Amino acid sequence: MKIKNKFAVYNIMMLITPILLIGVISVCFLIIFILKFPVEELNIPRAALIDPKVFSEAVGEFFRGNPAALWYMLLWAAICALILVLSTTVMTRLMSKSIENPINELDRAADYIRGGNLNFEFMGSNYDEIDMLCNNFDTMRRELKKAQENEQCMKKERSMLLANISHDLKTPITSIKGYIEGIRDGVADTPEKMNRYLDTIHAKAEVIDDMVNNLSTFSNLELSRLTFNFETADINAFVNEFLEDYRLDFEKNNIKLINNISADIAYVKLDREKMSRVFANLADNAVKYKREDNPSLEITTFTRDGGVYVYISDNGIGIGEKELQNVFDGFYRVDGSRSIKGSGLGLGIAKQIVEKHGGKIWLKSDGLGKGTTAVVYLPAAG
Ligand code: ADP
Repeated sequence: MKIKNKFAVYNIMMLITPILLIGVISVCFLIIFILKFPVEELNIPRAALIDPKVFSEAVGEFFRGNPAALWYMLLWAAICALILVLSTTVMTRLMSKSIENPINELDRAADYIRGGNLNFEFMGSNYDEIDMLCNNFDTMRRELKKAQENEQCMKKERSMLLANISHDLKTPITSIKGYIEGIRDGVADTPEKMNRYLDTIHAKAEVIDDMVNNLSTFSNLELSRLTFNFETADINAFVNEFLEDYRLDFEKNNIKLINNISADIAYVKLDREKMSRVFANLADNAVKYKREDNPSLEITTFTRDGGVYVYISDNGIGIGEKELQNVFDGFYRVDGSRSIKGSGLGLGIAKQIVEKHGGKIWLKSDGLGKGTTAVVYLPAAG
């Protein structure tokens, strides 16, 4: 109810309550008065009804003859006055309480927020206006809570990121140190052994180099420090060129390539170098997480929803449903894939690049062992 309507109700009650109570009391008093006192002596002449002087003389004469009746009338007047005062006080108290309660609640809520406690609920009130205020306050509380949770989540992610970076860097560094110590101690005592040791050191150094490069790209993308050189290009021709560049890699890994790229021309806004990185990361994953027997990779493109979809489907080890969202987070690697070379940054980088193109990227998988499809959607160039 609106404050103004509620106050009108209180005002009406403030009038009606004492009138009713005084009316009932007065009728009781009147009955007792008639029974108790000789009212027949209250001989008021007809003229007294229009002449107050004559009326007061007649009444005065009655009360002089019956002083108890005067006390009785005074008692009635006192009780009526008491009813008036009490009913007004009670109504005013009720009225102020109904406003005070939600305001006190808001005050308490402000104290909670100041103290960092955002886990309280608003009771609401009987007034529309105060309810609206409470609702706005509650929306603010929920937003603050969300921001607080996000901050905590980011803090946790940052710590996990640092833990993952140090872990992933530590592994190849430890192994490089081990091989160097081996050389120092003379374990690599033949030219073949020495070459093997040096090759391993070189390979491990490349892993670190890759990781540092990925890390730098990832953080530059996050900080929007990479400049994009967009041009309008046919995405179908671009994916075809990319596949040609990668054909040897697929052949080397015995991956059967199925080309379903549309023959149509589909223009999108494209930074060739960055988009090549996206497809390279997706293709690398299809190679790294391939199955042993009859691995295959199918690339399909088609135009729909005002843009172009590129599907890169492998029949490899697949991903569990719960992991599908997480794999785009920096350094996230599905359990079990840690034995395969990788930094956990490839999909995170791909996502940021695609989003900078105004597009979307996601993974689909029917589950472990059932292959994975990476979907890239890019809006058509206007
Ligand atoms: P990584 O360097 O580990 O490959 P990515 O960010 O490219 O990092 O991928 C994150 C994780 O997602 C991988 O560790 C792997 O577990 C999973 N993944 C990505 N692509 C595929 C795929 N095609 N098949 C199976 N798992 C995949």
